[in-house]
Amino acid sequence: MDTPTAPVRARIERVREVLRAERVDALLVPSSDPHLSEYLPERWQARQWLSGFTGSMGTLVVTTRHAALFADSRYWVQAEAELAGSGIELVKFTSANPPAHFAWLAEHVPAGGSVAVDGDVLGLAAAQALEDALAAHDIRLHTDRDLVAAAWDDRPALPAAPVHAHLPPHATVPRTAKLATLRTAMAEAGASHHFVSTVDDVAWITNLRGADVPYNPVFLAHLLVDAERAVLFVGAGKIDAALAATLAADGIELAPYAAAGEALATLPAGARLLLDPRRVTYGLRAHVPDRVRVIEALNPSTREKSRKTAAEAAHIRTTMIEDGVAMCEFYAWFEQALGRERITELTVDERLSAARARRPGFVGLSFPTIAGFAANGAMPHYRATDAAHAEIAGDGLLLIDSGGQYLGGTTDITRVWPIGSVSAAMKRDYTLVLKGTLALSRARFPRGTPGPMLDALARAPLWAEGIDFGHGTGHGVGYFLNVHEGPQSISKAVVEPAMAMEPGMVTSIEPGVYRAGQWGVRIENLVLNVPASTPEGDGFAEMLEFETLTLCPIDTRCIVGGLLREDERAWLNAYHATVRERLAPRLAGDARAWLEARTAAI
Ligand code: ZN
Ligand code: ZN
Repeated sequence: MDTPTAPVRARIERVREVLRAERVDALLVPSSDPHLSEYLPERWQARQWLSGFTGSMGTLVVTTRHAALFADSRYWVQAEAELAGSGIELVKFTSANPPAHFAWLAEHVPAGGSVAVDGDVLGLAAAQALEDALAAHDIRLHTDRDLVAAAWDDRPALPAAPVHAHLPPHATVPRTAKLATLRTAMAEAGASHHFVSTVDDVAWITNLRGADVPYNPVFLAHLLVDAERAVLFVGAGKIDAALAATLAADGIELAPYAAAGEALATLPAGARLLLDPRRVTYGLRAHVPDRVRVIEALNPSTREKSRKTAAEAAHIRTTMIEDGVAMCEFYAWFEQALGRERITELTVDERLSAARARRPGFVGLSFPTIAGFAANGAMPHYRATDAAHAEIAGDGLLLIDSGGQYLGGTTDITRVWPIGSVSAAMKRDYTLVLKGTLALSRARFPRGTPGPMLDALARAPLWAEGIDFGHGTGHGVGYFLNVHEGPQSISKAVVEPAMAMEPGMVTSIEPGVYRAGQWGVRIENLVLNVPASTPEGDGFAEMLEFETLTLCPIDTRCIVGGLLREDERAWLNAYHATVRERLAPRLAGDARAWLEARTAAI
């Protein structure tokens, strides 16, 4: 029977043949790659290939008789539609701890049986938890074979995009200095060697950028550093001879991408290897011989990279002007065109992306644009498609979350605009979210405060009205790198030492309210941790505050005036004065007029 899910059913059957031949009871297919990245190269989109489910997260399990996909609430609607007719059961879970597939496997695999997963794409910590959970039911875990490969004939090759240098002035610290800092951190941790698989860390340490995955300017590579040498394991042909010579002069040798495991296997006796157990795969870790002592800790570069230099902060401020200019040009067009021509959520994405693409230093988008009108705005991870998108017409709120990659920084901004006439309930939600964004933006806190402690400040105005939202309040943002980076997190996450707020960190502030089937509100700015401007205090704590980096009007037509305190109104007016002062000289005509109107004091 020729249905949309026929290829999926055929692939599942092919995998079942492989399972029988290998005498394995179940295959686990996570959504991950050898670098445990957020965005996967096509080669590692096995879960999507095998299930037909295109969401960015989800775990597939196939046994000889059953198949199940495990997804959280963000993906239930999409997964139900995409899995229909495939024979794959959708298992909805609300808590990822422990992962729901642990219990499912224990139920569907007999005692004495076995489960296979490709250890080369499974995190070390995740693999250990899985192994322990299965062992409790007398089930063995095989991590040494990639059973998907045996069934996937036309599997995409490794990405081959060229790697290029991130150059001064935008690259503000030479790679030689970064390697020196890294070696100091290694020595402090008692390590003789350090292995990094995290692609944005590798890009940051080496001042290199690539295009192996969408939205993140990274490339697939591992890095092994010791006191004298640094070896970059990267695909052949991705780095040209001139760049290779520059890297060699800076103390970085090149080796084949596939040689990383062998390099770990041949580490000398007595070596003390520093690695991050959450950012190195089980498969690579398995190459490390017993004679090597492993020191598990956060990659020092993850911490260093989060703390932008003063020169980087200056470039980010310039980039925010460019991004703000693009936003104003887009919105000026949008408000003029609304009601005169047909505008859909896809048009918004096209026009806004085009406005950004005209800005100097623009490289690409930093994530897929979320343009959600009315009920679509209530889905935090909504993405309009050719097959399903809304026209922007009638009454409702339009939520636009978008961002760009520029040589001098990465942007991420959410704004909400009234279309037609909006209800009192929408305006109330809008004002409460704005109060949350303002409350956190104005916070002052001791250096070292765990990010999760600040989370409640943004939620408090919503909590007071019995409202909460299901995502984090803020994520770290890279410098011409990933739009999501650690180690800090303003969220309900369990606190870890690395989440301490330190000067130079760039973080988002993005509380929201989501009314399923009706509307969504989120207001997002990026902020920089800076020394507090009134540092007297009691001399006990070094205080930090946020400098708001994002420059774009926040709509004032949706504000319920009576809900805003005088100090909140003053902050918003001061912010709008800054936005106007920095953007107006760069704008003319309609865009300038739009900026003036939308930044008028209230
Ligand atoms: Zn965003
Ligand atoms: Zn964000």
